[in-house]
Amino acid sequence: MALIVQKYGGSSVADADRIKAVRDRIKRTVDAGNQVVVIVSAMGKTTDGLIALAQSVSTNHTPTLIEIAAKEREMDLLLATGEQVTIALLSMALQEVGQPAIAMNGSQVRVVTEPNHTRARILYVEPDQIKAALALGKVVVIAGFQGVAIDPATGLPSTEITTLGRGGSDTSAVAIAAAIEADICEIYTDVPGILTTDPRIVPKAQMLTEITCDEMLELASLGAKVLHPRSVEIARNFGVKMCVRSSWLDDAGTVITSPRIGTGNLKSLEVNRFVETVSIDYDQVKIALLQIPDRPGIASQLFKSLAAQGINVDLIIQAVQETEGVNDIAFTIPQNQLLLAEVVTRGLEIGASLVTVDSNVAKISIIGVGMIGRPGVAAQMFTSLAEAGINIQMISTSEIKISCVIAATDGESAIAAIQTAFNVPVRSHQACEITSENSSDISPVRGVALDRNRARIAVQQVPDRPGMAAKILEQLVEQNISLDMIVQSQSDRDVNEIAFTVAIADLAKAETALKEYAKVLGYGEVSCDGDISKVSIVGANMIHQSGIAARMFSALADANINIEMIATSEIKVSCVVRDHQAEQALKVIHQEFNLSGDHAIEVPSALKK
Ligand code: ADP
Ligand code: ASP
Ligand code: MG
Repeated sequence: MALIVQKYGGSSVADADRIKAVRDRIKRTVDAGNQVVVIVSAMGKTTDGLIALAQSVSTNHTPTLIEIAAKEREMDLLLATGEQVTIALLSMALQEVGQPAIAMNGSQVRVVTEPNHTRARILYVEPDQIKAALALGKVVVIAGFQGVAIDPATGLPSTEITTLGRGGSDTSAVAIAAAIEADICEIYTDVPGILTTDPRIVPKAQMLTEITCDEMLELASLGAKVLHPRSVEIARNFGVKMCVRSSWLDDAGTVITSPRIGTGNLKSLEVNRFVETVSIDYDQVKIALLQIPDRPGIASQLFKSLAAQGINVDLIIQAVQETEGVNDIAFTIPQNQLLLAEVVTRGLEIGASLVTVDSNVAKISIIGVGMIGRPGVAAQMFTSLAEAGINIQMISTSEIKISCVIAATDGESAIAAIQTAFNVPVRSHQACEITSENSSDISPVRGVALDRNRARIAVQQVPDRPGMAAKILEQLVEQNISLDMIVQSQSDRDVNEIAFTVAIADLAKAETALKEYAKVLGYGEVSCDGDISKVSIVGANMIHQSGIAARMFSALADANINIEMIATSEIKVSCVVRDHQAEQALKVIHQEFNLSGDHAIEVPSALKK
């Protein structure tokens, strides 16, 4: 007998027939001798409908911060009703066929969250009620996406309903699975499992039979909405076994493998230590090409030539420039490849005004799944470096890692500063890389993701001195804005440019905050662009092969798609492109890495529309 958590998403419970199909699957699982806890989403597009209803009673005046907070509370009350409809119906359907069941909302179970409306993080889940109902032979049907806020004054659950953020019922399911120590958490949805990319854009996307938590975490955070990234974070921290399967089929789906047994604390499910390790790599040289023309094919030509010589490029950043029509590209490579790389780079005729080489650099990185969606982590890293008087030359971020290039002579004090700030152990830089088990037969690129929900902000003429990046980010942290893909350009002048992407919904708030501080902090213009998308490749084996990024850039160049920003980490490369070219970008990249299979994947919920 196993204890199984099954989560059914909106399309899997979209109407009465689908609810009956779900009921039958649950019944079969129970009849096979298992205990089952079910987490459900709202039916079909109910949550979208509720949001539209709220908008229909709103006037268009600009709300104050107090008004926003009050509205968010009512919004949670409204949205939480969606999932309550499904739990009641599914529980009734189970009872009708003689299967004892009980429906519970988040507050009845006590899915206790932080007191933040519309984006609450789960603190803990009370397992007792669920276990008591299971012991009575019942299937427990729980509303996903919702919880009850803790009362900060008493430390006990209040009566305030919270929601976790869109797509959050995956996170409810994994949190509940962790709390009751389930044997597996099965996520049922409208696709057969995790695919190489979104089948609604590339129908011949291929199924992955397994994927590591780290790869999944990057894919999910980079726009693959098949799983809520926070659910993967909990699975990783608590060692929850997880799979994604179709609720229409009986196929095995995709298993998400966790490289290690989690050591999380069940009393703070989603608020564990943000940063797991800090690492420093002295084997780095920085090469920067300044003011190269901003047109398709430049990055491709550069990195193709480097790859052709077997040069393993580590960090790449490309940022927009205040001068129209030109870009800076900087990258790092291992020390022993410097001579070759310099010859290749200087020999290229791509119109750079200057090529600079600096071998007195080190890369310091902080790593941790807990930093996803937590705006303060990058700012805290930059602040601690600034306080130690260390200048940051390059910044590159992924969802779970932030790397800064600094002078090698600052290495030791940088490590000390960061260890104090985050109270974390130091790891040698090799040890933190992520590898799949059967690395030789796995494609270096496992998945391609598209995030159309991003906007770009560039802060120009930032004085090149310690503390500036930290101060800029702090303005955003204060507004609770999460940013990613932070890149700071390398420059030959005494000013830098810092660019990053934020969720489109946060763009106006971020712009106001940054403009307000321009004079105080002494930076120049703040330019915003909501018309961009981010396309990314992910693969744990990328680090073992040179030329992967170059192939991505070439595919884009061949399709005449200009790359406006680049940021890389060991297991991913992200490019910002114009939004109207985003889907094409995804298709050509997927094609470049031969990720398509023979058959088109059917998405039943899409066909129904
Ligand atoms: P649910 O309602 O079950 O939670 P979602 O709509 O949130 O389902 O997520 C499933 C959708 O995710 C699929 O229909 C698919 O369009 C999209 N998707 C995006 N990237 C991927 C991917 N790499 N693999 C599978 N599905 C993906
Ligand atoms: N119903 C919620 C949403 O649509 C939560 C979820 O389905 O995961 O965002
Ligand atoms: Mg979902």
